[in-house]
Amino acid sequence: MKPITKSSKLASVCYDIRGPVLDRAREMQEEGQKIIQLNIGNIAAFGLEPPDEIVQDMIRNLPHAAGYTDSKGLFAPRKAVVHYSQEKHIAGVTVDDVYLGNGASELITMSLNALLDTGDEILVPAPDYPLWTASVSLSGGRPVHYLCDEGAGWLPDLDDIRRKITPNTKGIVIINPNNPTGALYPTALLQEVVEIARAHQLIVFADEIYDKTLYDGETHTSIASLADDVLFITFNGLSKNYRSCGYRAGWMIVSGDKRHAKDYIEGLNMLSSMRLCANTPGQLAIQTALGGYQSIKDLVAPSGRLCRQRDLAYDLLTQIPGVSVVKPKAALYMFPKLDPKLYPIADDQQFAYELLDEEKVLIVQGTGFNWVNPDHFRLVFLPNSDDLADAIGRIDRFLAHYRKR
Ligand code: PLP
Repeated sequence: MKPITKSSKLASVCYDIRGPVLDRAREMQEEGQKIIQLNIGNIAAFGLEPPDEIVQDMIRNLPHAAGYTDSKGLFAPRKAVVHYSQEKHIAGVTVDDVYLGNGASELITMSLNALLDTGDEILVPAPDYPLWTASVSLSGGRPVHYLCDEGAGWLPDLDDIRRKITPNTKGIVIINPNNPTGALYPTALLQEVVEIARAHQLIVFADEIYDKTLYDGETHTSIASLADDVLFITFNGLSKNYRSCGYRAGWMIVSGDKRHAKDYIEGLNMLSSMRLCANTPGQLAIQTALGGYQSIKDLVAPSGRLCRQRDLAYDLLTQIPGVSVVKPKAALYMFPKLDPKLYPIADDQQFAYELLDEEKVLIVQGTGFNWVNPDHFRLVFLPNSDDLADAIGRIDRFLAHYRKR
């Protein structure tokens, strides 16, 4: 029989967070080996359950949530998102501008599918949350990576952005707070991004899924709050701030200069209709979450578990020779650098495999986030302090062997 092959559309699509190293970890787990998982931002899996009010409402709503809804979503949760956008000072948002989705992921893919023709370019950060690069490619577009500068706390390099704009550039992706670096962008920098977008008529795609996962009393500015003459598509959801990623509840807000985007918005509406609607229980959970006071704030406060784990991971990693880390101001991750003089790594996926085999610790290699050199990895600081210290101790031991090779 003729072999059944995957679509050529997938040739340039890559999503290594759930890639081959994870497959190897699964095999090892099936053999009964215990793996410490520092690879995925699945908060509820680490004993950090969603707020009780959300769970209880989900249970109560379930018997009445078996039907389809309007394609964009139910009125009340979309209205709750309108109120949220008012709190974030995003002007002029109506219920009509809000789309609910099965997580932000579905909406990210939809927003790019509705826009891109072959050869259209989207500026995506390097490193990035790789769904962005993958979705641009899958939509037929060309991801063009702009650098974030580790020496400047992983902030976007504005000159690199300017250099990479061409007549084919349609939009720019801003992931703030950032996965994988934990960077939080100052308002002044966001203003400059808006100026670039305005000058070159770019759509700003703002992924703000960690906008409440902030440490050290930091505050978050939504880039869409900074102008009304640029088109912004802002993404958010319950997965991180409300520890409910399994409920697959996300939203997308279209704001700013909608007058010139009527055709694109028609495309968004069409794709939204084609997937019928987002899961209804998840939609109802959005209403509960945004109407309440529960979120992640107790966990990220100085005495909170996530803040303590961030500090511990940072302290332990930076004690290892040749390892440097920008301390995250937000989110759940850090993106340590391995000094290439001490650790001459040619293939960082191989590095991740070896760490897994030798020490049973699962991380994701930096190139999985479209980082340019094989000299970084991403670590999730969700495991409790004992497991985190154990895991980083093992990484230290592995690196000590690596240095002696
Ligand atoms: N955006 C970023 C930056 C993420 O880190 C993630 C998940 O890790 C997502 C989007 C996907 O979120 P959702 O669970 O809402 O699909």
